This record gives sequence, C-alpha cells and structure tokens, in this order.
Amino acid sequence: MIPCFFHPRQLKFKPNYEWAFGEKIDHPETTARAEGILAALEADAQRFDVRRPTQISEEALLAVHDPRLLQMLRTAEGLRKTDTFYPAVFMRGTDITPDPGQISHAGSFCFDSGTPLNRETWPAARWSASCAVSAAVAVAGGEAKVAYALSRPPGHHATTGLFGGYCYLANSSLAAQSLRTGGAERVAILDIDVHHGNGSQEVFWADPAVLTVSLHGDPTNFFPFFTGFAEEIGGGAGRGTNLNVPLPEGTDGQAYAQALEGALARIADFDPAFLVVAAGVDTYERDPMGNFALTTADLGRVGERIGALGLPTVAVQEGGYYTPHIGRNVEALLLGLAEGMSRRG
Ligand SMILES: [Zn+2]
Repeated sequence: MIPCFFHPRQLKFKPNYEWAFGEKIDHPETTARAEGILAALEADAQRFDVRRPTQISEEALLAVHDPRLLQMLRTAEGLRKTDTFYPAVFMRGTDITPDPGQISHAGSFCFDSGTPLNRETWPAARWSASCAVSAAVAVAGGEAKVAYALSRPPGHHATTGLFGGYCYLANSSLAAQSLRTGGAERVAILDIDVHHGNGSQEVFWADPAVLTVSLHGDPTNFFPFFTGFAEEIGGGAGRGTNLNVPLPEGTDGQAYAQALEGALARIADFDPAFLVVAAGVDTYERDPMGNFALTTADLGRVGERIGALGLPTVAVQEGGYYTPHIGRNVEALLLGLAEGMSRRG
C-alpha cells in the first residue's frame, strides 16, 4: 500500500486564465488535474491508501520560506470572493521596501504573471505543502518505503521568497527540509518534471546536505528560461551538490532513460538517507505545457529505475497538464517506483 495524501480544500483554488506569450488562455493548473489523479488512486484501493494530511506547522514553513512571502499569500486571503490579483508590476532597484501586506506589491514576491492570487490560494497552497510533509513523515517513520503527496498547486518553481510558475510554496523542498529536521544527514531531490526545478535549486543552493538533481527541457528556449543550465552546480558549501541535466525538445523515453541513469548514479554516490522525487508528469508526449515525448509506459519505467535505488522515497506531485491521462500517468509512475523497490529486495 502506498500512503497518498490529499485535502479537499486544495480543490477550492481555481486560477481562471493566464496571459501566455500575448494570448489569454484558460489556466492550465486546473482542479481537473488533482481530480484525475485522485480518481485513479481511489479506483485502486488495493494499492493506494488516500488520506488527509496533517496541517504543516509554521515552523516547518519558515525552515524554507521567507516570512514575507507567507505574509503576502495570507494578504491575498483578504481579497473579495470574486477578485483575482495578477501580479503585473515587477519593479526593482527602487528605495521603496515592498510591503507584503499590500496586494499591489505582490510583484515583489513573484517572478511571473501566470501565477494569480485569490482568497483560496493560501489555503490550497498550505494544504498542498502539508501533503508533501505528511508523506515525508510517513516515510521517515518507516511506515512505508514509498509515499505520495497529491500536491496541487505544484511547488518546485517557488523559491524561498518568490512564487511563480503556478507554484506558491516549495512543496518538494519542504518535504526534504522536514526530513533533514527529523535527523537525516543527507537528502536528495530528483526533479523529473519537464521544467527546471529552479525553486529547489535556490532553496538548497549552498546546502551540502541536500543534493538537488533536475532533468528538464533546455531552458535556452523553455520555461523558466533563466535557470536550469548545466553550469549551475551550487555555491559556497553546497558547490557540487546541484546537478542540472537540460535535454533537447522531443526527448523520448529512450534518450530520457539514458540521462536518468547518470542522474541516478550521482544520487547513489551522494548516499542520501531519503529521496524526494519532484514528480511532474509533464514529460508526457501529449502534455500541452511540455516538449518531451514520454509515453505512459516510459513513465512506469522511470519509476522503476528510481525505485531500484532502494531509497525510502517521497513522491511529490509537480506538473502534468494533459488531464485526460494524468491519472494513469501518475499511477504508472508510482507503481513503477514500488515495483523497482520491491525487486531490489
Ligand atoms: Zn512542469
């Protein structure tokens, strides 16, 4: 049985649109994503045990995040029911100190215009982060070798002080940090979302105890554009504990598997006590936000190879936007993980 965490309040947050390269589009980060995954998990009660998370503590949030970011998200809770705030002013270089109590300053706590705020953003983001930490607790306590957080909204683009890329709180980083706080000497994060995990990279940039590895579309011409290049290897005491593997548009299952082997070897070398998988499934061939060509079967094999590391693993949902197949894709990945783990022994 794989313990899976989800809270219904995560479904109350409904971003309605975004401007993407000049076009107004329906927002891709819909509730249908979580509903599709939930339906797949609940349909297989033999293998998945869906439960509610325990609410994340303020202390756990502050172990990763700047209190001013949290305050800005809480400020959005005061918006009127019908109001949505799209940060559109991203001023820098002024003498004004941004005020996290003022919604018009949200652009100072955010890096893009596609990540809206409304009164349901904070509760949904907090429960999403709670899922990640509850899954980490289940694995740390030895209850399961694999646990899954149905985290939505996603988290791997959120940094210590900025939201963006549909992400508000750094769910995978919060899971990793909670494992560290619980006493693990070393933890690794493997980000298999098709977009670079810039948030996790930033959070643990100078931390030698957390290895961050990300496989993703080459950011030269792909979101998040400014990070994800191979030269970014961590800094200060954390120099050498960040690995970016940018891959070309159209990367298929075979090419991906090859790149994954290198990433897994690096993780095995690091010898972490726990692995957090930032489990985006937007590498899928039909994903509207992705540019890779993995099939559902490929995602199962990716899971198996990761599971074969034999590390206690927390899988945290990140992206994945082709909602008709998102349930089966997540299921394939999770069953692959469990299978790889059991084969190992
Ligand atoms: Zn993504």
